[in-house]
Amino acid sequence: MYDLIIIGGGINGVGTARDAVGRGLNTCLIEKGDIASQTSSWSTKLIHGGIRYLENYDFKLVRESLKEREVIKKIAPHITKPINFVLPHVPSLRPSWMIRIGLFLYDRLGGKSSFEKSKFINLNDHFKENPIKENFISGYIYSDLYVDDSRLALLNAEDAMKRGAKIYLNTKIVKVLRDRSFWLITLDSGEVLKSKVVVNATGPFAISVLNNIFKLKSNKKLRLVQGSHLVVKKIYEGDQAYILQLDDKRIIFMIPYQNKYTLIGTTDHEVDNFENPKITDEEKNYLIKSVNSFIKKEISESDILWTYSGIRPLIEDNNQKASKVSRDYSFEVDDKDGAPIITILGGKLTTYRKLSEQILKKLNKYLVFSNKKWTSEEALPGAYDKIINNRNIPQRIFKRLIKTYGNKISKLNEFYDEFDTGGELIFDDFYEFEAKYLIKEEMARTSEDILFRRTKLGIDFPKEARDKLEIILKRHL
Ligand SMILES: Cc1cc2nc3c(=O)[nH]c(=O)nc-3n(C[C@H](O)[C@H](O)[C@H](O)COP(=O)(O)OP(=O)(O)OC[C@H]3O[C@@H](n4cnc5c(N)ncnc54)[C@H](O)[C@@H]3O)c2cc1C
Repeated sequence: MYDLIIIGGGINGVGTARDAVGRGLNTCLIEKGDIASQTSSWSTKLIHGGIRYLENYDFKLVRESLKEREVIKKIAPHITKPINFVLPHVPSLRPSWMIRIGLFLYDRLGGKSSFEKSKFINLNDHFKENPIKENFISGYIYSDLYVDDSRLALLNAEDAMKRGAKIYLNTKIVKVLRDRSFWLITLDSGEVLKSKVVVNATGPFAISVLNNIFKLKSNKKLRLVQGSHLVVKKIYEGDQAYILQLDDKRIIFMIPYQNKYTLIGTTDHEVDNFENPKITDEEKNYLIKSVNSFIKKEISESDILWTYSGIRPLIEDNNQKASKVSRDYSFEVDDKDGAPIITILGGKLTTYRKLSEQILKKLNKYLVFSNKKWTSEEALPGAYDKIINNRNIPQRIFKRLIKTYGNKISKLNEFYDEFDTGGELIFDDFYEFEAKYLIKEEMARTSEDILFRRTKLGIDFPKEARDKLEIILKRHL
């Protein structure tokens, strides 16, 4: 019998699994698709305090998030990177004093910080290239943390497994039975799992899973808000990102992405369906129009190389504007008529680790285990603090690999050695040995798992190369 079954392999589910198994709980996780196949891979990829939440007086969330920024930078240095954000000043929207107070708080709310403090700048003086129109003269600069979102989830899952958690991917729940002291969960394979507690970590699906699979009612509601991004060819040279204030009081980001692209997003588009969201024409036009009101070299629809959309599971608070609804999280516990089920509502990538600790605190009521918090101290797989020894992998490929896999590179070296010069070339610097590594070591099953989650090479991956990858997948699965 498991102590705990977690349903959902997004960041909140895998984070909880890692924490729980590390404290000695017999833990299992069931995911209907791949790790991070929903919201957790379609984010803006920032571990951030959320400067704009200060406007909603969400100080608690900003403080917690800023503290987490420090922790995640420490436990996942290989998949994170501090970035400077430039905020061009738009006097008609927010006066200088307001921005200065906001940044003053942002620099200090999280306590001791390793990030550069914010400052006032002249937009032309600071960077290799200033992509912003001449009518914007000055602005502010502050720092936040970029993260590879789906790999953050994957590494939490991998570590949970290493510590003894059982993870089922691509698995559907077909039946659920509740007893006084345990749950029986039947999987599509026919296997029946028994657990003392269930955690429903299904993100946007949470209420629907509670109602339709567990036949339970919820007192809370989720507001499902689609957010979409555009990826275009690099708009400007330089590592700095931009946070652009729009006339409707929203903000959008413009972030350098994978050395050759610029990522633009996001939108707040309310929906009532959470399966496979796609960007709408309205969202595309909104993002293009918004970014064009700031940049010198304007873009058009023909510049779009790729788009993606995800659904934010926000806790409904009857606030009219989606952008104003808090990004905080809460839980709903149902333990009156049998074994307990805890449902996670809301949350951000940034706060997943704290959210997991809160879940563990709730589990104390039902299970006996170590109360020692540990996830802020133990690095995620691949984290390194010294130069990694490379053996044979050519330097051209090594540079990307080290940023993706960190010190797991020694394992990749073993796969490289199995083949003559890394095996078949699939595309650009992606060879058969890496595909095989991802299948054997990182649970990849499809080309989508490989191209859009374990690596992010999918954006300009040609059809013929993808066909080749499919053949290689069959060879090694
Ligand atoms: C556009 C956008 C931008 C964002 N940007 C940021 C950002 O920059 N920084 C930040 O901190 N946060 C950001 N967020 C928020 C963050 O991405 C989400 O809060 C977070 O990923 C939610 O994680 P989750 O685990 O709760 O949900 P999900 O990632 O959606 O995971 C839920 C999982 O449950 C699975 N599931 C559903 N039903 C079942 C079932 N019946 N059986 C088994 N499995 C099931 C799903 O397949 C899914 O994998 C952004 C969100 C969006 C939409």
